[in-house]
Amino acid sequence: MNYQNILQEIYQESLVQPKIGNIATYIPELANVHPDKFGISLTTINGDNFGIGDSNERFSIQSVSKALSLTLAFSLYGEEIWKRVGVEPSGSAFNSLVQLEYEKGIPRNPFINAGALVIADMLVSGLKNPKQDFLDFIRTTSGISTINFDEKVAQSEKNTGYRNAALANFLKSFGNIKNDVEEVLDFYFHQCSISMSCHELNHAFFFFANEGLTQKGIQILNQSQIKRMNALMQTCGFYDESGEFTYRVGLPGKSGVGGGIVALMPKQFIVSTWSPRLNSNGNSELGMFALEQLTTKTGLSIF
Ligand code: GLU
Repeated sequence: MNYQNILQEIYQESLVQPKIGNIATYIPELANVHPDKFGISLTTINGDNFGIGDSNERFSIQSVSKALSLTLAFSLYGEEIWKRVGVEPSGSAFNSLVQLEYEKGIPRNPFINAGALVIADMLVSGLKNPKQDFLDFIRTTSGISTINFDEKVAQSEKNTGYRNAALANFLKSFGNIKNDVEEVLDFYFHQCSISMSCHELNHAFFFFANEGLTQKGIQILNQSQIKRMNALMQTCGFYDESGEFTYRVGLPGKSGVGGGIVALMPKQFIVSTWSPRLNSNGNSELGMFALEQLTTKTGLSIF
Protein backbone atom coordinates (compact mmCIF):
# COMPACT_ATOMS: atom_id res chain seq x y z
CA MET A 1 0.00 0.00 0.00
CA ASN A 2 1.48 3.39 -0.96
CA TYR A 3 0.30 5.37 2.04
CA GLN A 4 2.26 8.51 1.20
CA ASN A 5 0.55 8.79 -2.20
CA ILE A 6 -2.83 8.17 -0.61
CA LEU A 7 -2.23 10.87 2.03
CA GLN A 8 -1.09 13.24 -0.72
CA GLU A 9 -4.30 12.64 -2.68
CA ILE A 10 -6.49 13.08 0.39
CA TYR A 11 -4.63 16.26 1.33
CA GLN A 12 -5.20 17.78 -2.12
CA GLU A 13 -8.88 16.85 -2.05
CA SER A 14 -9.24 18.25 1.47
CA LEU A 15 -7.75 21.61 0.55
CA VAL A 16 -10.53 22.27 -1.97
CA GLN A 17 -13.35 21.32 0.41
CA PRO A 18 -15.57 24.20 1.55
CA LYS A 19 -14.35 25.67 4.83
CA ILE A 20 -17.14 24.46 7.06
CA GLY A 21 -17.23 24.70 10.83
CA ASN A 22 -15.85 26.90 13.55
CA ILE A 23 -12.89 26.80 15.85
CA ALA A 24 -13.78 26.13 19.53
CA THR A 25 -13.83 29.43 21.36
CA TYR A 26 -15.45 28.45 24.66
CA ILE A 27 -11.90 27.82 25.90
CA PRO A 28 -10.51 31.26 24.95
CA GLU A 29 -6.93 30.09 24.44
CA LEU A 30 -8.02 27.62 21.73
CA ALA A 31 -9.33 30.53 19.65
CA ASN A 32 -5.73 31.68 19.05
CA VAL A 33 -5.04 28.80 16.70
CA HIS A 34 -5.22 29.40 12.94
CA PRO A 35 -8.42 27.70 11.70
CA ASP A 36 -6.80 26.52 8.45
CA LYS A 37 -4.15 24.37 10.07
CA PHE A 38 -4.37 20.85 8.66
CA GLY A 39 -2.24 17.78 9.02
CA ILE A 40 -2.50 14.01 8.63
CA SER A 41 -0.06 11.43 9.93
CA LEU A 42 -0.17 7.67 9.57
CA THR A 43 2.05 5.12 11.33
CA THR A 44 1.95 1.47 10.33
CA ILE A 45 2.25 -1.39 12.76
CA ASN A 46 5.74 -1.99 11.30
CA GLY A 47 6.75 1.48 12.43
CA ASP A 48 6.74 3.26 9.06
CA ASN A 49 5.64 6.90 9.30
CA PHE A 50 3.86 8.98 6.69
CA GLY A 51 2.76 12.58 7.08
CA ILE A 52 1.52 15.63 5.26
CA GLY A 53 0.65 19.25 6.06
CA ASP A 54 0.95 20.37 9.67
CA SER A 55 1.40 16.84 10.95
CA ASN A 56 4.40 17.75 13.12
CA GLU A 57 2.90 20.82 14.75
CA ARG A 58 1.64 20.45 18.31
CA PHE A 59 -1.93 21.35 19.25
CA SER A 60 -4.21 20.95 22.25
CA ILE A 61 -5.32 17.32 22.31
CA GLN A 62 -8.31 18.05 24.62
CA SER A 63 -10.66 15.05 24.74
CA VAL A 64 -8.29 12.80 22.82
CA SER A 65 -6.61 12.55 26.25
CA LYS A 66 -9.68 10.76 27.60
CA ALA A 67 -8.68 7.53 25.84
CA LEU A 68 -5.31 7.68 27.60
CA SER A 69 -6.67 8.59 31.04
CA LEU A 70 -9.15 5.73 30.76
CA THR A 71 -6.33 3.38 29.78
CA LEU A 72 -4.32 4.34 32.85
CA ALA A 73 -7.37 3.97 35.14
CA PHE A 74 -8.22 0.63 33.51
CA SER A 75 -4.69 -0.63 34.13
CA LEU A 76 -4.92 0.46 37.79
CA TYR A 77 -8.45 -0.67 38.66
CA GLY A 78 -9.53 -3.21 36.00
CA GLU A 79 -13.25 -3.94 35.73
CA GLU A 80 -13.97 -2.08 39.00
CA ILE A 81 -14.20 1.05 36.87
CA TRP A 82 -17.57 0.05 35.48
CA LYS A 83 -19.21 0.36 38.89
CA ARG A 84 -18.80 4.13 38.58
CA VAL A 85 -19.17 4.75 34.85
CA GLY A 86 -21.11 3.00 32.06
CA VAL A 87 -20.19 1.77 28.57
CA GLU A 88 -23.19 3.02 26.55
CA PRO A 89 -23.15 5.72 23.87
CA SER A 90 -24.73 8.83 25.33
CA GLY A 91 -26.55 10.31 22.32
CA SER A 92 -26.30 13.71 23.97
CA ALA A 93 -23.71 16.48 24.00
CA PHE A 94 -20.30 15.83 25.54
CA ASN A 95 -20.87 18.35 28.31
CA SER A 96 -24.52 17.53 29.02
CA LEU A 97 -25.79 17.50 32.59
CA VAL A 98 -29.22 16.05 31.88
CA GLN A 99 -28.56 12.29 31.80
CA LEU A 100 -26.70 12.39 35.09
CA GLU A 101 -29.89 13.29 36.93
CA TYR A 102 -31.75 10.23 35.60
CA GLU A 103 -28.82 7.91 35.97
CA LYS A 104 -28.10 8.88 39.56
CA GLY A 105 -24.60 10.17 39.02
CA ILE A 106 -23.29 7.25 36.93
CA PRO A 107 -22.14 8.79 33.62
CA ARG A 108 -23.09 6.89 30.48
CA ASN A 109 -19.51 6.37 29.32
CA PRO A 110 -15.95 7.47 30.14
CA PHE A 111 -15.63 9.80 27.12
CA ILE A 112 -18.35 12.32 27.86
CA ASN A 113 -17.11 14.97 30.26
CA ALA A 114 -18.99 13.57 33.26
CA GLY A 115 -17.42 10.15 32.70
CA ALA A 116 -13.96 11.60 32.16
CA LEU A 117 -14.29 13.54 35.42
CA VAL A 118 -15.04 10.30 37.28
CA ILE A 119 -11.97 8.72 35.65
CA ALA A 120 -9.94 11.81 36.62
CA ASP A 121 -11.16 11.33 40.20
CA MET A 122 -9.99 7.70 40.14
CA LEU A 123 -6.56 8.78 38.91
CA VAL A 124 -6.32 11.48 41.58
CA SER A 125 -7.04 8.74 44.16
CA GLY A 126 -4.76 6.12 42.64
CA LEU A 127 -1.65 8.06 41.60
CA LYS A 128 1.03 9.47 43.93
CA ASN A 129 1.61 12.65 41.91
CA PRO A 130 -1.46 12.59 39.64
CA LYS A 131 -0.57 15.23 37.04
CA GLN A 132 3.09 14.27 36.76
CA ASP A 133 2.34 10.55 36.75
CA PHE A 134 -0.22 10.96 33.97
CA LEU A 135 2.23 12.99 31.91
CA ASP A 136 4.89 10.33 32.48
CA PHE A 137 2.40 7.69 31.36
CA ILE A 138 1.88 9.47 28.03
CA ARG A 139 5.63 9.94 27.68
CA THR A 140 5.95 6.18 28.20
CA THR A 141 3.24 5.12 25.74
CA SER A 142 4.58 7.52 23.09
CA GLY A 143 8.28 7.18 23.89
CA ILE A 144 8.52 11.00 23.62
CA SER A 145 9.90 12.72 26.71
CA THR A 146 9.17 16.31 25.67
CA ILE A 147 5.35 16.00 25.71
CA ASN A 148 3.92 18.48 28.18
CA PHE A 149 0.91 20.34 29.51
CA ASP A 150 0.11 23.73 28.03
CA GLU A 151 -0.35 25.78 31.20
CA LYS A 152 -1.97 28.65 29.28
CA VAL A 153 -4.67 26.34 27.92
CA ALA A 154 -5.20 24.71 31.31
CA GLN A 155 -5.55 28.10 32.99
CA SER A 156 -7.83 29.38 30.23
CA GLU A 157 -10.16 26.42 30.70
CA LYS A 158 -10.03 26.76 34.47
CA ASN A 159 -11.13 30.41 34.16
CA THR A 160 -14.14 29.52 32.02
CA GLY A 161 -14.93 25.88 32.90
CA TYR A 162 -18.26 26.55 34.59
CA ARG A 163 -19.97 23.54 33.03
CA ASN A 164 -17.26 21.13 34.05
CA ALA A 165 -17.34 22.62 37.55
CA ALA A 166 -21.12 22.09 37.58
CA LEU A 167 -20.69 18.47 36.41
CA ALA A 168 -18.03 17.74 39.01
CA ASN A 169 -20.13 19.21 41.81
CA PHE A 170 -23.21 17.34 40.59
CA LEU A 171 -21.22 14.07 40.53
CA LYS A 172 -19.94 14.84 44.01
CA SER A 173 -23.53 15.24 45.22
CA PHE A 174 -24.14 11.60 44.13
CA GLY A 175 -20.93 10.47 45.85
CA ASN A 176 -19.25 9.65 42.51
CA ILE A 177 -16.36 12.07 43.04
CA LYS A 178 -14.33 11.08 46.09
CA ASN A 179 -11.66 13.78 46.10
CA ASP A 180 -11.79 17.54 46.42
CA VAL A 181 -13.69 18.89 43.40
CA GLU A 182 -11.07 21.57 42.74
CA GLU A 183 -8.27 19.01 42.63
CA VAL A 184 -10.18 16.78 40.21
CA LEU A 185 -10.96 19.73 37.93
CA ASP A 186 -7.34 20.87 38.02
CA PHE A 187 -6.24 17.38 36.96
CA TYR A 188 -8.88 17.24 34.22
CA PHE A 189 -8.04 20.67 32.78
CA HIS A 190 -4.37 19.70 32.69
CA GLN A 191 -4.96 16.36 30.98
CA CYS A 192 -6.99 18.17 28.30
CA SER A 193 -4.30 20.83 27.86
CA ILE A 194 -1.61 18.36 26.74
CA SER A 195 -0.02 19.47 23.53
CA MET A 196 0.96 16.92 20.87
CA SER A 197 1.33 16.65 17.10
CA CYS A 198 -0.46 14.12 14.87
CA HIS A 199 2.79 12.25 14.54
CA GLU A 200 3.25 12.09 18.32
CA LEU A 201 -0.35 10.96 18.82
CA ASN A 202 0.25 8.01 16.52
CA HIS A 203 3.12 6.90 18.73
CA ALA A 204 1.10 7.40 21.93
CA PHE A 205 -1.82 5.38 20.52
CA PHE A 206 0.33 2.67 18.92
CA PHE A 207 -0.50 0.11 21.64
CA PHE A 208 -4.23 0.26 20.81
CA ALA A 209 -3.43 -1.19 17.38
CA ASN A 210 -0.70 -3.51 18.66
CA GLU A 211 -2.54 -5.71 21.18
CA GLY A 212 -1.51 -3.50 24.10
CA LEU A 213 2.23 -3.22 23.35
CA THR A 214 3.94 0.14 22.74
CA GLN A 215 6.46 0.55 19.94
CA LYS A 216 9.19 -0.12 22.49
CA GLY A 217 7.46 -3.34 23.59
CA ILE A 218 5.99 -2.13 26.89
CA GLN A 219 2.72 -3.90 27.75
CA ILE A 220 0.16 -1.20 28.66
CA LEU A 221 -3.04 -3.28 28.69
CA ASN A 222 -3.75 -6.93 27.93
CA GLN A 223 -5.42 -8.11 24.74
CA SER A 224 -8.89 -8.37 26.25
CA GLN A 225 -8.64 -4.87 27.74
CA ILE A 226 -7.52 -3.51 24.36
CA LYS A 227 -10.58 -5.07 22.76
CA ARG A 228 -12.73 -3.24 25.29
CA MET A 229 -10.93 0.07 24.82
CA ASN A 230 -11.25 -0.08 21.04
CA ALA A 231 -14.92 -1.06 21.37
CA LEU A 232 -15.53 1.98 23.56
CA MET A 233 -13.74 4.31 21.15
CA GLN A 234 -15.84 2.86 18.34
CA THR A 235 -19.16 3.31 20.10
CA CYS A 236 -18.52 6.44 22.20
CA GLY A 237 -15.40 8.20 20.86
CA PHE A 238 -17.09 10.95 18.85
CA TYR A 239 -19.59 12.60 21.17
CA ASP A 240 -23.15 12.15 19.93
CA GLU A 241 -21.80 11.61 16.42
CA SER A 242 -20.21 8.22 17.14
CA GLY A 243 -22.73 6.47 14.89
CA GLU A 244 -22.01 8.86 12.03
CA PHE A 245 -18.25 8.44 12.44
CA THR A 246 -18.62 4.66 12.45
CA TYR A 247 -20.85 4.83 9.37
CA ARG A 248 -18.53 7.08 7.40
CA VAL A 249 -15.07 6.00 8.62
CA GLY A 250 -15.48 2.58 10.22
CA LEU A 251 -12.57 2.81 12.67
CA PRO A 252 -12.37 3.19 16.46
CA GLY A 253 -10.95 6.52 17.54
CA LYS A 254 -11.23 9.61 19.69
CA SER A 255 -11.70 13.27 18.87
CA GLY A 256 -11.12 16.50 20.77
CA VAL A 257 -12.32 20.08 20.51
CA GLY A 258 -8.77 21.19 19.64
CA GLY A 259 -9.59 19.67 16.22
CA GLY A 260 -7.59 16.47 16.62
CA ILE A 261 -8.76 12.95 15.79
CA VAL A 262 -6.89 9.69 16.35
CA ALA A 263 -8.23 6.53 14.73
CA LEU A 264 -6.76 3.11 14.28
CA MET A 265 -7.02 -0.11 12.37
CA PRO A 266 -6.01 -2.93 14.73
CA LYS A 267 -2.81 -4.67 13.59
CA GLN A 268 -2.47 -2.30 10.61
CA PHE A 269 -2.06 1.41 11.37
CA ILE A 270 -2.76 4.43 13.56
CA VAL A 271 -3.80 7.67 11.86
CA SER A 272 -4.18 11.17 13.30
CA THR A 273 -5.64 14.29 11.75
CA TRP A 274 -5.73 17.89 12.91
CA SER A 275 -7.99 20.61 11.56
CA PRO A 276 -9.47 23.01 14.13
CA ARG A 277 -12.75 23.80 12.35
CA LEU A 278 -15.41 21.78 14.20
CA ASN A 279 -18.86 20.72 13.07
CA SER A 280 -21.88 21.30 15.29
CA ASN A 281 -21.15 18.09 17.24
CA GLY A 282 -17.64 19.22 18.14
CA ASN A 283 -15.77 16.95 15.69
CA SER A 284 -13.24 18.19 13.17
CA GLU A 285 -15.05 18.60 9.86
CA LEU A 286 -12.02 18.13 7.63
CA GLY A 287 -10.57 15.42 9.85
CA MET A 288 -13.69 13.32 9.38
CA PHE A 289 -13.61 13.95 5.65
CA ALA A 290 -9.96 12.90 5.41
CA LEU A 291 -10.49 9.73 7.44
CA GLU A 292 -13.53 8.76 5.39
CA GLN A 293 -11.38 9.14 2.27
CA LEU A 294 -8.62 7.05 3.84
CA THR A 295 -10.80 4.04 4.61
CA THR A 296 -12.55 4.36 1.24
CA LYS A 297 -9.32 4.56 -0.76
CA THR A 298 -7.44 1.85 1.16
CA GLY A 299 -10.46 -0.43 1.59
CA LEU A 300 -9.26 -0.88 5.20
CA SER A 301 -11.76 -0.51 7.99
CA ILE A 302 -12.83 -2.85 10.75
CA PHE A 303 -16.05 -3.47 8.88
N1 GLU B 1 -11.54 20.33 27.94
C1 GLU B 1 -12.69 20.24 27.12
C2 GLU B 1 -13.95 20.34 27.93
O1 GLU B 1 -14.06 19.71 28.94
C3 GLU B 1 -12.63 18.96 26.36
C4 GLU B 1 -13.79 18.81 25.45
C5 GLU B 1 -13.51 17.97 24.25
O2 GLU B 1 -12.44 17.98 23.67
O3 GLU B 1 -14.44 17.26 23.91
O4 GLU B 1 -14.86 21.04 27.63
